[in-house]
Amino acid sequence: PATTLLKLAEETDAEAITLNRDPDPHGRKVEEQLAAKAGRVEVLTFKDACLHERDEVLTANQTPFRVFTPYSRAWNKLPKATPHPKIKTLNSPKLPGEELPTLADWNLKPEGRIVASGEKAARERLKHFLQHGLARYGDHRNFPAGESTSGLSQDLRFGLLSIREVFAKTSEAAASLPHAGRASAEKFLSELIWREFYMNILWHYPEVMEHEFNAKYRGMSWPGKLADFERWCQGETGFPIVDAAMRQLNATGTMHNRTRMITAMFLTKDLHLDWRLGESYFMQKLVDGEIASNNGGWQWSAGTGADAAPYFRIQNPWTQTLRYDPEGAYIKKWIPELRDIPAKKLSEPPPPGLKLHPSYPSPIVDHSKARDITLQLFKDFI
Ligand code: FAD
Repeated sequence: PATTLLKLAEETDAEAITLNRDPDPHGRKVEEQLAAKAGRVEVLTFKDACLHERDEVLTANQTPFRVFTPYSRAWNKLPKATPHPKIKTLNSPKLPGEELPTLADWNLKPEGRIVASGEKAARERLKHFLQHGLARYGDHRNFPAGESTSGLSQDLRFGLLSIREVFAKTSEAAASLPHAGRASAEKFLSELIWREFYMNILWHYPEVMEHEFNAKYRGMSWPGKLADFERWCQGETGFPIVDAAMRQLNATGTMHNRTRMITAMFLTKDLHLDWRLGESYFMQKLVDGEIASNNGGWQWSAGTGADAAPYFRIQNPWTQTLRYDPEGAYIKKWIPELRDIPAKKLSEPPPPGLKLHPSYPSPIVDHSKARDITLQLFKDFI
């Protein structure tokens, strides 16, 4: 990127390259390369990926936080920058355009939908969410069927929306809501803080990209079978909630947060496969793929991360289905062959020797046995 940007600056006679500072080591390397090679071109860096970066949120001893709750308390106390007024004109050079990619270029299936691109579309999504989603976010956010969350992650990831604008407009919308609605808005704002918490972790502990954040579990081995990894990727595990989520990911490049947790925990705790395999698969597929949140989410699910769910708290995919997809609407959307199966049957393993549907696989593991193996793996290691 540094070479291409400098070539572009040369071709267009640009005086400066302005960029927003990146919390991940790849982006930071590009920034260093640009600064070293820029020559006559000025390189100006800004804070825009987050509201508070690297050393702004520190403990009383000036050390980075390793746990979310005190981090979020300190984050909340800091004053917040307001959005800049709209830029009236921006003199940018005319560049030859290229055709926008199609679904097929991205290897996405026709049932997928590429989210509308550009700042205008992102602003519309924010407006729609603030009007229709914010007040019920707290109650709905865990249910993967339907529109239960903001759908803004790719906009924040790629800077289509400024986090300053999202924060300011959410706070403004929250002020006019009744008490319950304000609590719901608080929940939404706290998710934005999780995003910055994981950036803070990656900034201060870039080794998480390779290693377990919790040093106690560094070097743990995951003895699962690679053939099971393939079935997980394709959504062929015989666990409908897991398969629906993986098929959603493969078709659309997105997945609901609840099912990101379920599929990640399933890969690590039911199939005993290394979290790095899943992390990398998600990164290849997600349209909002972001190293900090993805790594944080995977390490949380594996039980190795900052604020990790302790390793012995293992979600049961069947009871998760009952709780978060009780009507089976999400499952039936992404696994059409299960459309006519009564919802209750989707939240329990089929009786031995029976299948939910002739073309749908039987569960590849017995959850309670897999759970016991996980507990033993952790106990043996520590
Ligand atoms: P909303 O619920 O509307 O939340 C609003 C915003 O808050 C999101 O857009 C996102 O920026 C942020 N946010 C929400 N939840 C989290 C969270 N748990 N951690 C960090 N930030 C959060 N998020 C990514 O942006 N990129 C990733 O690559 C990514 N990978 C993940 C992998 C795993 C295994 C898990 C468990 C979570 C991952 N997340 C990731 C976090 C979360 O799932 C997504 O941000 C969320 O599903 C995006 O949908 P939304 O915009 O509708 O979220």
